[in-house]
Amino acid sequence: MSELRIGIGHDTHRLGPGGPLRLGGIDVPADRHLVGHSDADPLLHAVIDALLGAAALGDIGELFPDTDPQHAGRDSSELLELAAQHVAAAGYSIVNLDCIVFAQRPRLGAHKQAMGRRIAEILGLDPARVGVKAKTGEAVGPVGREEAVVAECVALLRTDGP
Ligand code: MG
Repeated sequence: MSELRIGIGHDTHRLGPGGPLRLGGIDVPADRHLVGHSDADPLLHAVIDALLGAAALGDIGELFPDTDPQHAGRDSSELLELAAQHVAAAGYSIVNLDCIVFAQRPRLGAHKQAMGRRIAEILGLDPARVGVKAKTGEAVGPVGREEAVVAECVALLRTDGP
């Protein structure tokens, strides 16, 4: 019998001056960028943690420590690909992903589909299995004050087999 496993991922990165915004594996035109050890893509990081969490394989910090210089400035799509390989090696397939990105500015509505398509491409999934939603911070809190961009992801996995 195939078993279903659910996982959740959440990530925050600070905004700094100068664009573009690296989000969901694409460059969104903006006058701010996200600051972090890798390419600081909170959406891909949330996806990685949701996948690892569903398979109980730890988290992104264990797999790719931010103290390791080889991850400095690293393209998070490579990290997602590696995390997905771990999940597949543990015997799981991805059923679907559902994601939310919280950014006050720029409005991400026009970029949601491209982010979803890119995530699907990295994971070798049908784009219909990847949902990406965008919300503002309603001008309050770290997102609303344009200090940070936050992303969340829920992943559903199933075990391979009969
Ligand atoms: Mg991160």
